[in-house]
Amino acid sequence: MPVKCRSNCGRNAILKRPKTGDSLCKECFFWAFETEVHHTITKGQLFKRGSTVAIAASGGKDSTVLAHVLKTLNEKYDYGLRLVLLSIDEGITGYRDDSLDTVKQNRDDYGMELKILSYEDLYGWTMDKIVAQIGKRNNCTFCGVFRRQALDRGAALLSVDSLATGHNADDIAETILMNIMRGDVARLQRCTSVSSESEGSIPRVKPLKYSYEKEIVMYAYFKRLVYFSTECIYAPNAYRGHARAFLKDLEKIRPTAIMDIIHSGEQMMVNDTVSKPIRGTCTQCGFVSSQDICKACTLLEGLNKGLPKLGIGKTSKVKKALIALSTEKMSTAYPWISTNLDTPSLAEVRDVLARDLKKTFDYVDVQVVDCPDLTEEPFFLAGKGLGGETSLIDLGGPPYLLPLVKRDKVYDFKQLVKQLKVTPSLLMGACAGPWPYFGKNCEGVCNVLVDGDNYFKSCSYVGKVTDGDEKLECLPIPDSETRFALMANLYCSQGKPGKVLKVNCKKRTGKKDFITAIRTGLAAGFPNKYVGLGGAFLLKEGRAKQHVMRDFSKTPINTEEELNNWLTFHDMSAPLVAVGTLISNEVPDFDLRVQHFHSFSKHNEAGHYHYDTTPETVEYLGYFNVAERLHRVDKPKQTHQLGRD
Ligand SMILES: [Zn+2]
Ligand SMILES: [Zn+2]
Ligand SMILES: [Zn+2]
Repeated sequence: MPVKCRSNCGRNAILKRPKTGDSLCKECFFWAFETEVHHTITKGQLFKRGSTVAIAASGGKDSTVLAHVLKTLNEKYDYGLRLVLLSIDEGITGYRDDSLDTVKQNRDDYGMELKILSYEDLYGWTMDKIVAQIGKRNNCTFCGVFRRQALDRGAALLSVDSLATGHNADDIAETILMNIMRGDVARLQRCTSVSSESEGSIPRVKPLKYSYEKEIVMYAYFKRLVYFSTECIYAPNAYRGHARAFLKDLEKIRPTAIMDIIHSGEQMMVNDTVSKPIRGTCTQCGFVSSQDICKACTLLEGLNKGLPKLGIGKTSKVKKALIALSTEKMSTAYPWISTNLDTPSLAEVRDVLARDLKKTFDYVDVQVVDCPDLTEEPFFLAGKGLGGETSLIDLGGPPYLLPLVKRDKVYDFKQLVKQLKVTPSLLMGACAGPWPYFGKNCEGVCNVLVDGDNYFKSCSYVGKVTDGDEKLECLPIPDSETRFALMANLYCSQGKPGKVLKVNCKKRTGKKDFITAIRTGLAAGFPNKYVGLGGAFLLKEGRAKQHVMRDFSKTPINTEEELNNWLTFHDMSAPLVAVGTLISNEVPDFDLRVQHFHSFSKHNEAGHYHYDTTPETVEYLGYFNVAERLHRVDKPKQTHQLGRD
């Protein structure tokens, strides 16, 4: 005879609840399961009405059931929540790509927004590549650390109020056992709480905290929810495996063991003498960390430096290794390729430009002249002239800034000059300023004279905006600071006096800016050639639109629009001294920035030159020289066209 449902609904029971042993019908099981989650939510006050909640969706059973139950309860009890899905693509072929299809199905079924963030985009490494580098032994450490931060970043990106994860009762009981066995009391407290909140990070909640894994599987089965049911193909966490096996044995003897362990964990009082880590933020990436440099950044640094085991050891060891690394950095050579450029005579260049610039300016005067002393007013350069062993350096590039900054991309002029092998070296141009020195991202106006290891003169500036009211600042970089970051377009010479090209233009009648007019003029005058110029120009009269970068964006910048929202734009006034480079055509495979000038002033304005905004009154006065060589330094492996204006 069929057993009746325990709740007297009149239907026949078709299952036995693992948690209580009750025989129930399908409907009453759904009700019981959902109501328990509802109680977890209301009792723990997990959500505020009107807030947005991201569900960490992996495509596995827990998050699939969590998404379904949250959607159901949100409607049934009118929580007033906006629910979105957040997935992390670890880059594990054959595992994550399949499970993400499941998440996409959830997105379509439930009509929820879905955001997928990949390790590849965030860190430049997929788990496949990490495993190839370090083997299968410690890869869970990387994956866990990166995943935790990736979820924080994703939640920030979606601007959600909280993040719901699918941790179930079994997971939590296992974690309690593990922390007890390891004596990790600080973690023991954190893992038992139903919601965790710490400054600077988005609160995480666990609505399935009291739901048994067996019941989650049962719920998914009877609801016919589709989920992806393979364990990660890379070695599962062995220690957790033991805790899991132990818990399953206990559960067999006594099903309430899981709940009992959670209650024990919750009731345990932690002695005040137990030191709990102080939560601050990482000095590298700005995300939550109890150390100066967070675990994710440490692991990443290790990977990028070819020392992947770096972050796995003890903190003190890691610190020592990091210090060793930062001094070692100086001696590490930058990846470097070079080529000869086409070198028309200054007279040929003069003739081409004298003709072509007429399309853009009313008054054009181009001459070959003896270089005036550029160390004097109005140019204030570090060297007198533009002559001797001339070359262009294109270093790094926007892919190190966008979509997210790569903070390990900090360079040193001394190392650069060592590899350039020009003595002395006068370097001038556009770069990203030394953010470690100024404490935030900034535009660099490079203008340095370097002679071996012993002589370094900086006439460089940075352009930045102040915190808060975003006021413009143009600050000098001292001789003691020899670094810059992310990217640079530099004109290099020995700073010798000699013949140069003088370009004087007034009153703009065409659409092009000064530099674009010169560059396209060269391209037209020397077809199929690679002609590079570098030097300085003065915006003598008028004003120019220039941008200044804000501090590094915490959310990825993927579109031109997002980029323009992040940059600050300014109408800056003459006199402005600009330094930089241009090249008539893209050299194949060099992934060049074809023109790039940054300018500084003595009136606290500095930035990246776009174009003048005063065509009627504008006047430019430039001194340029032809570059003989082109050096491409630390070219990004993956590139994009964003941010090259
Ligand atoms: Zn029933
Ligand atoms: Zn960090
Ligand atoms: Zn720039």
